[in-house]
Amino acid sequence: MSAAPNGTVYLVGAGPGDPGLLTRRGAQVLALADVVVYDRLIGSELLDLARADAEKIYVGKEASRHAMTQDEINALLVEQALEGKSVCRLKGGDPFVFGRGGEEALFCRAHHIPFEIVPGISSSIAAPAYAGIPVTHREIATSFAVVTGHTKDDDAPPSELPRAATLVFLMGVRALPKIVAQLLARGEAPSTSVALVRWGTTAQQQTVVGTLETIEAEVERSGLKPPALIVVGEVVGLRDKLRWFDARPLWGQTVIVTRAREQASGLAEGLRAQGARVLQCPTIQVQPLQDYSVVDAAIGELSGFDWVVFTSSNGVAAFWKRLKYLSLDARAFGLARVAAIGPATASALEERGIRADFVPESSISESVAEGLLERGAGKGNLLIVRALEGREVLSERLQAAGAQVVVAPCYATVPDNSNAEQARAAIEEGEGEVWITFTSSSTVRFFLDALGGDWVRSRRSKFKIACIGPITAQTSRENGLEPDAVAAQAGVESLLQVLVEA
Ligand code: SAH
Repeated sequence: MSAAPNGTVYLVGAGPGDPGLLTRRGAQVLALADVVVYDRLIGSELLDLARADAEKIYVGKEASRHAMTQDEINALLVEQALEGKSVCRLKGGDPFVFGRGGEEALFCRAHHIPFEIVPGISSSIAAPAYAGIPVTHREIATSFAVVTGHTKDDDAPPSELPRAATLVFLMGVRALPKIVAQLLARGEAPSTSVALVRWGTTAQQQTVVGTLETIEAEVERSGLKPPALIVVGEVVGLRDKLRWFDARPLWGQTVIVTRAREQASGLAEGLRAQGARVLQCPTIQVQPLQDYSVVDAAIGELSGFDWVVFTSSNGVAAFWKRLKYLSLDARAFGLARVAAIGPATASALEERGIRADFVPESSISESVAEGLLERGAGKGNLLIVRALEGREVLSERLQAAGAQVVVAPCYATVPDNSNAEQARAAIEEGEGEVWITFTSSSTVRFFLDALGGDWVRSRRSKFKIACIGPITAQTSRENGLEPDAVAAQAGVESLLQVLVEA
C-alpha cells in the first residue's frame, strides 16, 4: 500500500472580522478543507463555511497567551498535511501582515509540503475604513506604513519608526505610551490626530479619537482594551465626515431574533445592514413528521383541489420534499390554484416554479379566509398545508362557508432551548438597547418557555419588544408583554422599518 500523497496547506486570510470580507477564494478553500486550523478573532460565521465533518482546531494566539506556540502550530500543519489532508490555516486579516504566515510557509517548504497563500483583507486598512478613516487621501496623506507595537516579546514599537503620512500600529495598545513618546521625541506635533479602533468591522467596533497629547487619557477614560489598532495622522480627522459604519440607525443595539434559524436569514441580514448586533435565539426547530399519510394522500389527488393554501415557507419546503419522495414535481398541481400566506411563503413557491394566484394582504386567518371566499373558495375543495400544531381558525371559517377542507400537516415545530442561556445573558447585561423580535405567536410562546416567562417579565425594563404583526402582538400582550413596536404591514421589511423608526 502506498502512502497517500501529501495534502496542501492553504494559508488563508480570514479578513478583519466582518464575515463578508472573506475572499471568494478563501471561502472556496474553507469549504473544501479536511482540517481548519484557526486563530482567535475568527468568528463562528466563518467556521460555519467549513464542511460539517471538517476537523476544526483552535490554536489561539493573543499577544500574551498562546493556546499553542508557533512551533507547535507549524508542526501541526505539516503533520496534518502528511496525512494527506487538505489543511486550511485560517488567519486573521492577511496571513503575511504580522500574521507569521511567512514562517508557516517556510516550515511547509522545508518539509516539502505544497502550500498556497490566499491573501486577506488586512485589519490595518479595513478597521480604519470601517471607522471612516482612509489610510491615504489626496494631498493629506501620500503614504502609509503598518508598524508592529510588539517587538521581541516586548510591548514596544521598533526603535526607528517609519516616516509615512499615516502610521498604523498593530498589537500596539499596551505600547501606546511608548509609541506616543517616540513620536513626540522625533518632533511630531502634539496636536497630531490619533485614533484607536477596537474590533473593527464587527458589531462591537469601538473607536476612540484624540491627539498625541490626549489619546492616552482618552483611552483610559473609554476603557478600550486590546485587540485594537492605532492610526496616527491627519487622515483621522476625515472620520467626522466619513463615519458610516457606526453611524447606522441600529448601531449599538442588540436585537434578539427568535425565528427558526432556517427562516431567520432575511431578518438577520436586514438588521445587520442597519448596524444592529444580531443574536440568533431560535426557540423553535422544524422537524419532520412521523406520519405523512394525510399529505401523501392529498398529493395523490392534488389536481382535484380547487385551492392549495400554503401557510409558511417551511410548509412549502416540506411539501416539496413529499412531492419529490413520491417522484412528482410542480406539474402535480394541475389546474389547482395556489394561495400563499405571507410574502416569504410566496417567494418559496416562486423558487419552485409556482406563482401564487393569491397572496393575501394580511396574514390574519380571518382575512385570509375572506379573500379566499371572495375568490369562490366557498364552493370548492381546499387543501391547507401547514405545521402539525397550527391554528384551526382558517379551516373552520372556510368550512362554515361551505368549503370542503383537507388539513395536511407537513412538518412539526418543537422547542429548542439551546440558545436560552445566551439570550438571558444579553438581556441581563443589556449592552446598549436590547430588542426582542417576535415573528409569530409561536415564537412568543416558545421564547417564554425557553427563558422562563416569569424571568422575562421580571426584567421587562431591560428590553423592548417588536412584533411582526397584530396577532403576534396580541399573543405577546396575553403573555404579559406589551409590545413597544408593531410592524404596520405584517412582514420582515415592515418589522425592520419600525425598528429603525423606533
Ligand atoms: N494579519 C492581521 C494582523 C495580525 S496582528 C491583519 O492583517 O489584520 C493582530 C493585531 O491586528 C491585533 O493586535 C490588532 O492590533 C490588529 N487587529 C486585528 N483585527 C483587528 C480588528 N478587527 N480591529 C482592530 N484591530 C485588529
